[in-house]
Amino acid sequence: MIGILKSMATTMKHALDGSTFTVEYPETAPDVSPRFRGVHKFSQERCIWCRQCENVCPNDTIQIVMDDKRNGEQYNLHIGQCIYCRLCEEVCPVDAILLTQNFEYDRCDELHDRSLRGK
Ligand code: SF4
Ligand code: SF4
Repeated sequence: MIGILKSMATTMKHALDGSTFTVEYPETAPDVSPRFRGVHKFSQERCIWCRQCENVCPNDTIQIVMDDKRNGEQYNLHIGQCIYCRLCEEVCPVDAILLTQNFEYDRCDELHDRSLRGK
């Protein structure tokens, strides 16, 4: 009973002091933790195609394949199966992969395409 009263007092205190803990997303972007792991950003210019990220990834999220049209390697990221362990970022010797703080997965393809174009 005392626990319930304490929790209600805490709720009332925050309800009356004007503090807000929610934001009106998507109009307002919420703050995320500095350690948040979101959508990957890949830099084709930095990549030396060493395949360490592909080898360290525990569930084949990253696949580097040969692209005949481009006559070279193509970096494929199957974001839906990523567990955001960040091993790919840690193993990359040239910082070509970064896990950003972006969590807007509907824009993931757009951002990935943009990072492939170096923009
Ligand atoms: S964060 Fe982990 S699961 Fe996701 S692509 Fe990188 S190594 Fe693979
Ligand atoms: S570890 Fe880095 S440099 Fe090596 S293939 Fe992956 S992204 Fe490219």
